[in-house]
Amino acid sequence: VPIPCDDARRAFGDARVSSQRRAIVEAACTLRGAFTVEELTEATRSRDVSAGTATVYRAVGALEASGWLEQVGKRGESALYARCDAGSRHHHHVVCERCGRVEATECPVRVSPADGGFVVTRHEVTLYGLCPACMQHHEQGA
Ligand SMILES: [Zn+2]
Ligand SMILES: [Zn+2]
Ligand SMILES: [Zn+2]
Repeated sequence: VPIPCDDARRAFGDARVSSQRRAIVEAACTLRGAFTVEELTEATRSRDVSAGTATVYRAVGALEASGWLEQVGKRGESALYARCDAGSRHHHHVVCERCGRVEATECPVRVSPADGGFVVTRHEVTLYGLCPACMQHHEQGA
């Protein structure tokens, strides 16, 4: 379930938001599923706002720090970002490789004493696949 789009000021957790940053938030709200910074830059520019990739990178960093956006995985070398309503509880994401739909998933990691005696302090897990809609499309197309 997508979260409704907050106003830009709340998204940045800041009282002062430039019109450029507002446009970046609005563009992010029009993108379905996970997106890269490059895709967000393109979506922002399509709103007749001049925004360089570096500017959008910084805005995405701020939106990630405020919790409005999360990094949910990777496509090639590019990080994928999305809005996620799972909150601050520990969770991971499953990302549809076709449409970019993102869902939060439970943690699949079980550390065992057999792992070389390590005390594991953090881990990174992202699951990729096809969402039910894309799976249906895939089967019908076959
Ligand atoms: Zn999440
Ligand atoms: Zn999909
Ligand atoms: Zn985990």
